[in-house]
Amino acid sequence: MRFLFVILSLFIYQSISAQSYKNLHDKSILVDTHNDILSSAMLEGKDISHRIKEGHSDLDRWKEGGVDVQFFSVWTDKIPRNKEGFFKDARQEIDSLDLLIHKNPDRITMARSYKEVRKGIRQDKLVALIGLEGGHMIENDLARLEQLFKQRLGYMTLTWNNSTSWASSAMDETLHPDSLKQKGLTDFGKQIVRRMNELGIIVDLSHTGEQTFYDALATTTKPVLLSHSSVWNICPAFRNVKDEQIKAVAGNGGVICINFYSGFIDSNFAKRMTELEGTKGKQIRDSLQQFYDAAKLNDIWRQRFSAELEPLRPTLAKLVDHIDYIVKLVGDDYVGIGSDYDGVSSLPVGLDDVTTYPKITEELMRRGYSKKSIKKILGGNVMRVMKANFQ
Ligand SMILES: [Zn+2]
Repeated sequence: MRFLFVILSLFIYQSISAQSYKNLHDKSILVDTHNDILSSAMLEGKDISHRIKEGHSDLDRWKEGGVDVQFFSVWTDKIPRNKEGFFKDARQEIDSLDLLIHKNPDRITMARSYKEVRKGIRQDKLVALIGLEGGHMIENDLARLEQLFKQRLGYMTLTWNNSTSWASSAMDETLHPDSLKQKGLTDFGKQIVRRMNELGIIVDLSHTGEQTFYDALATTTKPVLLSHSSVWNICPAFRNVKDEQIKAVAGNGGVICINFYSGFIDSNFAKRMTELEGTKGKQIRDSLQQFYDAAKLNDIWRQRFSAELEPLRPTLAKLVDHIDYIVKLVGDDYVGIGSDYDGVSSLPVGLDDVTTYPKITEELMRRGYSKKSIKKILGGNVMRVMKANFQ
């Protein structure tokens, strides 16, 4: 009898706790600051209005995952897709997002002010914002920056993996320092940061080199984002952030949004992936007859390396360790979620698509995080940065 009582209590306890993490997740504002569905699928005409079998994201699945605000990454590689150049690439991606919103006005909306962000959330729509991933797309022209963000809100990541003439990237500062004419932000780079502050465009420092990172922090008058970066001390990947950088972001009132990519979460995975890219990956790249952008190479790695890398995929707990690390170092006001869904070739076990965010809430609750802290991490912190930047 006592045994039955224990079993019954356990069952009740488990269902209550399952209920409570789901309730908390539903009540929280979830903001994801980085998703690559525009360049990986929508640009080619894929309709994500309803559930699709491939990829990580669509409107049905965002709803199931409890997502309220999604920054859509506008990305193009260091060689433009269009002969007209990077700016045209960016415009095409934004057009594909506008089309999705036009087709689904009851489910997704583009906000034009912080107030409209809140309104979209209240109306239970997915609020779409733009994240321009790489300063190369403004083609050294401030007018282009204004054109891309006209009637829209979001951030610009000062560099992608490629440097511009005004900002050096993490990849070049660490892996190809000899290729750089200068490190950090030039005067024009600083002018761009100041103009972004005036226009209400968030300065995103993911992908930037450390010198650019510190120059931008010294220039901006508003809180910054790192839209998809993880912790160097857990996984020393070239563009993860070091303790001093985390402290500097906290000093600025900004937020670091954790990237889910297995190679940025787990050092064993990262090590094996680097070996594979250097050996088999190099052979594959050398055999390709034409330029393949990073998104297409991701697809190739997924197909060719998945069997070998599957056993090395990190756990969900390992991802939450990155959140924990930042909270323990600087407090719970400076960390958020920047999945990089539809932009990565591998994800932690159990985080296979945008329906799975509630598992992060469950793990944070299991670790004893308060409801208040969890709400900040899921979206409250990024909402604070949006409010400080958007008009
Ligand atoms: Zn990126």
